[in-house]
Order: sequence, then C-alpha cells, then structure tokens
Amino acid sequence: MSENSEIETLNAICREAKSEGKLSGKNLTDLYELFGQRFTKALEALKENRVKKYVFKPSGRTVWIVVGRERDYLLMPEAEFCTCDDFYFRVLDCKVHLCYHLIAQKIARNLGWFKTIEETDELYASLMEEWKKATP
Ligand SMILES: [Zn+2]
Repeated sequence: MSENSEIETLNAICREAKSEGKLSGKNLTDLYELFGQRFTKALEALKENRVKKYVFKPSGRTVWIVVGRERDYLLMPEAEFCTCDDFYFRVLDCKVHLCYHLIAQKIARNLGWFKTIEETDELYASLMEEWKKATP
C-alpha cells in the first residue's frame, strides 16, 4: 500500500466520521484493516485522552502533541510529520507511513476528541525545545 492511499483512505474515513459525529463499526473495521496495530495504539491514545492541542496566546499558534508512554510527541499534521522514532526510521527507509500519533491526531481533530491547552507565547520556545529534544 502506498503512503498516499493510506493518507487518502484515512482522510476519507475521517470526513465520514466527522459528518456522523462518531466512528461507525465499519469505520473501525476499515481502520483496523488499513493500519492494524497502529490503529489499535491510536485508538488507545484517543480513549485515554492523550491527544492535546496547545494554543499559544496571543499569537494563536497551535501545536499538536500526543502524550506517549515515555515522552510527548510533537506533530506537524499539515506536513504529515511526527517526532517519534517510528516515523523517523520509516521515512529514512522510504517505507510507508503514518505513525499511530498522526492517525490519532487526524481522528481526534475530526471528532473533537482532544484536549485544548492554552499557554502564553512566552512559553512557546521552551516547550518546543522540550518536545524536540528527544528527536533522534
Ligand atoms: Zn509518531
């Protein structure tokens, strides 16, 4: 499966889920067929409310974070980018794909299943440094 069809299929399912306001049984089956364990982990993150949207004031800059077991993962969803090892090594290998953080973030954004945290712009630089530190 190519990277594009993964993203396109996920986007299509997210659009459907958004209009329904939930993930249907069929959505769940399709997502599991497409992503396997990655979807299981994404769903776990969603259920445990580990997807966070930081909004910095007054600039309005936003940053998406998935809280992991050992550290927080910084995502740049517009660029399909994540700071986890999974993402990093797979991209280097030219393998597929979306890591489970990106899958979780896309579903979270479409269904509103995330927590919004407001911070001041003064904290932006130090938080970003913290989130980027663990990047290989
Ligand atoms: Zn990731």
